[in-house]
Amino acid sequence: MNLIFLGAPGAGKGTQAEVVCNEYNIPAISTGNILREALKSGTEMGLKAKSYMDKGALVPDEILIGIIKDRLAEEDCKNGFILDGFPRTIPQAEALDKMGVVIDKVIDIEVSDERIVTRMSGRRVCEKCGSSYHMLYKKPAKEGICNACGGTLIQRKDDHPDTVKDRLDVYHDQTEPLKDFYSKQGKLFIVEGQEEVADTTKLVLEAVAKQA
Ligand code: AMP
Repeated sequence: MNLIFLGAPGAGKGTQAEVVCNEYNIPAISTGNILREALKSGTEMGLKAKSYMDKGALVPDEILIGIIKDRLAEEDCKNGFILDGFPRTIPQAEALDKMGVVIDKVIDIEVSDERIVTRMSGRRVCEKCGSSYHMLYKKPAKEGICNACGGTLIQRKDDHPDTVKDRLDVYHDQTEPLKDFYSKQGKLFIVEGQEEVADTTKLVLEAVAKQA
């Protein structure tokens, strides 16, 4: 099953994608994580992406399209995948079509801007392995320390409130039109993000299992 998880930054796409990928045994591909890894390794692509990411802007389409093309060609994508954070623009969605990638469903997680700003200020990530936590909703066992690898938890630069507002503007402007794009193809499934992560997960799993 080839899935896209759509939604504003901070709507919980990554957390939900992790659950669904375990349930269906398919990889969850986060373009944000791929870019952050590239940045950590100091590759040319990572350094180029940094200036856009720090501002909350989108990294140019051609870079992302190249990343996704390479990633989807890997063996583990043969039986399906979840795209988390791609496409984020109409040209990126069109590029998937041109690659011959058939998307089965697009799960759109809806959360109000107001709630997103509150949520994102509590988000923390492990600087070592990238696992994500939340000071209210997904606390680590030991404050400031990653459960998975013992690394230090930090706040991403682009999760600071001013940058979050910029990212939301970018989302409404450039990414939200994808809802219409996929709705016209009958592939869009809307899930209302709930207060409790587990309640959203239940709705997401139902939407994934639903016949299109
Ligand atoms: P995320 O972790 O998905 O919120 O992504 C973090 C940042 O990476 C975004 O704010 C963008 O700067 C960049 N990024 C990730 N995915 C894409 C994409 N599909 N197109 C353009 N920029 C992206």
